[in-house]
Amino acid sequence: MTQENTEGHAADVVKAPGTDVHGTPVVSGMAYAPAMWVVRPDVPPATAPSIAEDKRDAEFARYQAAAKVVAERLTVRGDATIGHASDVLKMSASLATDRGIAKEVKVRISKQGLPAIQSLVGATDKFVTMFEKAGGLMAERVTDLRDVRDRVVAEIQGQPEPGIPVPTEPVVLLADDLAPADTAGLDPELIVGVATELGGPTSHTAIIARQLGIPCIVAMRELRQVKPGDLVLLDGGKGRITINADPAVAEDKVAKDHEWREKVRAWRGPAQTTDGHHAELLVNVQDGTTAAKAAQGQAEGVGLFRTEFCFLDAKTEPSIEEQTSIYSPVFEAFSHGKVVVRTLDAGSDKPIAYANLDDEENPALGVRGLRITGQNPELLQDQLDAIAKASQGHEGKSWVMAPMVSTLREAEWFTQEVRRRGMTGGIMVEVPAVAVMAEEFLKVVDFVSLGTNDLTQYTMAADRLSPHLAEYTDPWQPAVLKLIAQTAAAGKKLGKPVGVCGEAAADPILACVLLGMGVTSLSMAASAVSTVGAQVSAVSFSQCEAAAAVINDARDAKHARNLATEALGIR
Ligand code: PEP
Ligand code: MG
Repeated sequence: MTQENTEGHAADVVKAPGTDVHGTPVVSGMAYAPAMWVVRPDVPPATAPSIAEDKRDAEFARYQAAAKVVAERLTVRGDATIGHASDVLKMSASLATDRGIAKEVKVRISKQGLPAIQSLVGATDKFVTMFEKAGGLMAERVTDLRDVRDRVVAEIQGQPEPGIPVPTEPVVLLADDLAPADTAGLDPELIVGVATELGGPTSHTAIIARQLGIPCIVAMRELRQVKPGDLVLLDGGKGRITINADPAVAEDKVAKDHEWREKVRAWRGPAQTTDGHHAELLVNVQDGTTAAKAAQGQAEGVGLFRTEFCFLDAKTEPSIEEQTSIYSPVFEAFSHGKVVVRTLDAGSDKPIAYANLDDEENPALGVRGLRITGQNPELLQDQLDAIAKASQGHEGKSWVMAPMVSTLREAEWFTQEVRRRGMTGGIMVEVPAVAVMAEEFLKVVDFVSLGTNDLTQYTMAADRLSPHLAEYTDPWQPAVLKLIAQTAAAGKKLGKPVGVCGEAAADPILACVLLGMGVTSLSMAASAVSTVGAQVSAVSFSQCEAAAAVINDARDAKHARNLATEALGIR
């Protein structure tokens, strides 16, 4: 937004004190501190004078040496970190020395005589275009590519490594978008809040902020209105930044938030509303390691075991024995708890070499999830056999569900396959077609679990990984809430369990609304369990029901969130 100043030049409008900027809330919590912008280095243009022929090998060696230093540095940081942060640092390290990029750099140096830096810029641009065209998870890696490029360029120039400067006092960090390697190093003592112009609720920024418990907002279109050094109040729960807020009000809100966070830290399950309604809180895991770690927390069981994550690098189908040994530790981690295993959700943003078609025009709408069974029926039979074997001796409930189901025939067939192996069979509700006919589907399955990430994507026709569509990929969208409510009502009528295992379950306010709708279990990242548990235990079930009823009138996601917050009597 610009306006004419007295000299007739366009100038940025700086927001008046006390005014607000809005975005999509990701991690709730309050922060009151000066704003610090992440400044991106200038990238030199991809054209420049030639390097003499006899100097080209040395120029390429200069690039290789710098890339190696950057990769090593990222690997060391990755080894010193755990969880998602460690994974993203190691992934960035492998990008620095990626053979495909190196090949492109070499061509530019040796054939065109371009200097190393310009060659890397040109090579990166080529991959950025390719990744953006591919969409989905590939497009998400564009930020990683650019970040790694900037690090290698700085190394070649002999400059300090770019990234987030370490502040000397607590700040609210602002950026267009954050690269995984940036977010992985955040210190929650100094970075007390994070806000980005781009990014979605499932971006790396969001995942790591959640893991570190840093209040976070994404998709703040007007974030540039906040200037470096502005004292800001960031409300992660409401998705709002107030510029130059009243200090007394801001400090009071931060103090109350700290009290709340103490409560969350001290919370011990099981979750129960103040009037005695039990909420079954479960975790989402991807292998035995994440399950064992989650078992140390307050969750009662596993609500979603994403089995495809075990095979992302596999070139051929693992044998039944191999699969059994991969699944068993998850059952062992929750030996008395419920374990819900999801069969391979291969395809779209999680392609698996041995399961998916090579080229699909539109993979999110293609042969993914249960649909891969059509071309390779053995794959599912083998996986179900392996799950059945792994669950033998498990004293808790062993449930198995299929992803990306869209017809009654699929639901009925899959459930029978699971039942005949002695387990409980269900489906995920990720496709609006299933929610619309929830009652019919529930009649033929033992349970359903709402995958709100995909359900939102397909209901709103918005790529869940796009950094530009956070407003649409918000599970608070009234149309999505209506589909969830309808499914929960059908479950209640038929007396069958209806869980939620998408990101919606990890939002403490939305979790209360879901319970009020009649959802019977909530499954989330392990890091979200205490926050959701403490919130559910602080309200009554009748408040949850009132919140679920009142959002029927919501006009948009923000309106729904506000109506629910009010009905729940939350800060
Ligand atoms: C979902 O779609 O909400 C879900 C839980 O599945 P995934 O995120 O693995 O697609
Ligand atoms: Mg899904």
